[in-house]
Amino acid sequence: MEKRKLSAIPRMEATPEMVEMADRMPGIKHMVTAELVEDSKILLLNFFEVSKLKKGKTEAAFRTFLSSDDYITQDLSVSKVKWLTAAFDNMQNFRVFEYKWDGCKSQHIPLVFIWSATDKETIEKFFKTYSKKDDESVWNAIGRFQDKVKASRLEEKHRKVLAPIDLKMEPIVEPPQEFRDWVWEYGMSFSRYGIYKETSKGKAEFECTYCKKIGVVDRSKVRLRNNEKGECPFCGSKVTYKARGKMPYQIVDERWFIYVDRQEKGFLLRYFNAKRHIKNDACIETSIFKKRIEESLFEYSRSFWTFVGNTPMKESYEWGVYHQRGLSRWIPDEGNIACMESILYPGNLPQAWEHTPMKYSALEILAQNIPTTAFRYEDALDVYLKFPKLEWFCKMGLNQLAKDVVRGYNYSGNMTGKVNYKAGTIYEILGLNKVNTRTLQAIDGNHYELRLLQVAQQLDIQMKPEQLKEFYETFECNTDLLREKNRKVSLHKLCRYIDKESERYPIGEKNACMWGYSYNRYKERTDPRIERKQNMAHDWLEYIGWCRELKYDLDNKFIYMPNNFKKVHDRTAEEYKALQDKKAAAEKKRREKLAAKKMAETKKAMEEIFSRNDGVDAFQIKGKGLILVVPQSGDEIRKEGEALHHCVGGYVDRVARGETNIFFIRKADHPEKSYFTMEWRDNKIIQCRGFKNCGMPADVQAFVKVFEKKMNEAIQGDNKKNAERKAG
Ligand SMILES: [Zn+2]
Repeated sequence: MEKRKLSAIPRMEATPEMVEMADRMPGIKHMVTAELVEDSKILLLNFFEVSKLKKGKTEAAFRTFLSSDDYITQDLSVSKVKWLTAAFDNMQNFRVFEYKWDGCKSQHIPLVFIWSATDKETIEKFFKTYSKKDDESVWNAIGRFQDKVKASRLEEKHRKVLAPIDLKMEPIVEPPQEFRDWVWEYGMSFSRYGIYKETSKGKAEFECTYCKKIGVVDRSKVRLRNNEKGECPFCGSKVTYKARGKMPYQIVDERWFIYVDRQEKGFLLRYFNAKRHIKNDACIETSIFKKRIEESLFEYSRSFWTFVGNTPMKESYEWGVYHQRGLSRWIPDEGNIACMESILYPGNLPQAWEHTPMKYSALEILAQNIPTTAFRYEDALDVYLKFPKLEWFCKMGLNQLAKDVVRGYNYSGNMTGKVNYKAGTIYEILGLNKVNTRTLQAIDGNHYELRLLQVAQQLDIQMKPEQLKEFYETFECNTDLLREKNRKVSLHKLCRYIDKESERYPIGEKNACMWGYSYNRYKERTDPRIERKQNMAHDWLEYIGWCRELKYDLDNKFIYMPNNFKKVHDRTAEEYKALQDKKAAAEKKRREKLAAKKMAETKKAMEEIFSRNDGVDAFQIKGKGLILVVPQSGDEIRKEGEALHHCVGGYVDRVARGETNIFFIRKADHPEKSYFTMEWRDNKIIQCRGFKNCGMPADVQAFVKVFEKKMNEAIQGDNKKNAERKAG
C-alpha cells in the first residue's frame, strides 16, 4: 500500500442526515461509510464517532484502507498523518461487537452501524471470498481477512530472521563417522555394565553390555557387588556391576559432546547429545525394540566463534521451534539447551582451530586424558585466553586441576587449594616443590589434593602418591589430621583401619541422596566402596571427638581404632548424649541458682532504697519530677501494657515466677498515669520503654541511670557486709 497516496485522498465528512440520525441510535458507538478508491482496488471505510456526531462534529475519527492482501488504518483525530497497523479486533477505543452472556446464551450486540444499504453491499462484495453461510454479519468476513494478513505479516517477519540463519547453516555438513565412533567408544565408555544374577551357589550368569557376551562366572574369582566397579571377565573392559534383580526400569546415561568444525574465520562449536538407555528385563518386555540397549546422538546447539585479536565473538543458535510455529530448525539461541557441561572431541584438534588463538591451548590433550568427564569447555576456552599457562596443566596431565581452574579462575571460592595465576614457574603457580609437584601429577590431583600437599609441605611431611590418594579417598580434604599431634597412629595405619572396618559400613545420607540431583546428571558415580570409606571416616572423627569429651583413653588402641566400629560408635553416641544431658542439667541448675541470688539482691536493694524515702513507697529524685513505682499485682502490669501499647503484659508470668522485675516510671505530679516501664534483671536495666515502645527522653534516661547506680551501690554494700561477716 502506498501510504503517501492514500493519505492524500480527501477526508470524508458526515452528511447532515448522519448527524441527525446520531441522536436516534442507542448503543451504537461508531457509524461507518464505505467507498472504493484506487481503481476499485482498495476499499476505504470511514469511521465516525456517534458521540462526536451528536455534538455536531462531522469529521471522521479514523479510516481504514483494505486491499486484497493488506490493511492499514489512518488516525484522523490528529492533523498530522498517523498510521495504525492493528486489526479491528485489537484497536484501542473501538469494538465491532459487545459480547454478552446472560447465563445460558451468548449474544453479540453490534456497536458499529453501517450507514446505508449501498455501503453494506460495497463491503460485502469486496470480502465475498471470505464470507461463510452462517456469518452473523460482514464483520466476520473482514475478521477472517485480517487474520490471514496477520499470519502472512508474521511469516514475513520470521523469514527475515530465519533466512540468514538458513544461509549460515547451509554449508555445514554431518561430522565424520570417526566422531560418532569416538563418542560411543571413549566418551560413553563409563556407561558399561556387567549385569549378573546368581544361578547356583557361587555361580552367576553374567551379561556384559559392552562385548555383549553372556556366560557363567565363578563368584569366588570375580567380586560381584551391586554398583561396585570392576572388569568384565570376558573382554576385560571396565564395567559397573548391576544385580539383575535390583536394576531400575532403565538406566539413562547422557553426555553432551562438542565437535569443533573449522570455519573460514574461526570455528564452530557443535553440541551433540548422546543418550544410552540400558533397560531392565521388565522394560525390554514392554518396549518395541526388544533390546537391552538403545542409543541416540543428536545435535542441538551451535556456537560460532570468531576472534578480534584475542577477544572471542560468539554467535549461538539452537535446534528448536521458532516462536511456536512450524517444524524444528536452527533458530537464534533462546537458552533452552543446557549443554554447557560437555565433553570435547579431540580427534580433529588442534587442526580445526589452528588458525585461531586456540591453536596452542592443548585442550585436546585434556579431552584425550579425561574422555568421560564433562565440564564447561566453553569456559575453558575463555580461561585459556586469559591464563595461557592452563596449557601447562593440560600437558602435565594435571587434568583434574585444569578442570578446577576453569571453574575457579573467575571465582576463587570454588577452589580450596589455591593457584597463583600471576606466578612465573609451575612450582610457584602450584605452591609446591618439585617432589610434591610430581606427586600431584602422579595421582592427577584435584584442588583438594593440591591443598593437602600444600599443607603437608608446610608441615614437612613427605607424602607418597599412593599415600595421598588413599588419604584423600578416606578423609577427603581434612588437613587437621595431617598434623601428627592430631592423631595417634600413622596416616597409613589409619587409612588401612577405615578401609577394613568400612567393608560393611552403610553409605550414609550425604552420598546416598546426592546422586538423585540433576546437577549430577553428567557425572559418573563414584565406587560405593569409596563412599562407604568416607562415611565411616566422617563417623570415626565424630567418635574420636566424643571419646575426648568422655575422657576415654585414646592411647588405648582398642578405643582409638575399635573393632566392630559401627557398634562401638553407636554405643559411644549414647554415652556421649547422656553426658551432654547431665552437663545441660547442671548448667540449668547453676543458672537458676544465680538468677535466684540476683533476685534476692534486687529485693534487698529495693528495700534499702525505699527505706531512705521515709516510708514513701516510691523512689524519687528531687528536682527531676519522676518517681519509681513497684507494681503490686499482675493486673497492674497488664494495665500498664494496655495504656502504653507495648508488650509488658506478657511479662506477668515471668515476674510471678521471680525471673525478672518490672518497675513503672511516672511523673511525680501524675503518679497514677503510665509513663515509662522498666525491666530489671541480673542487677541491670534490660529495657525501658514508653508509649508504643518509644525511647527515653533525657530526663528519664538520667533517672534510670541514677536508679541503677543506687541499686548497685546497695547490692555491693550488702555483699561487702556479708563478706565481712563471713571473714569475721
Ligand atoms: Zn565384556
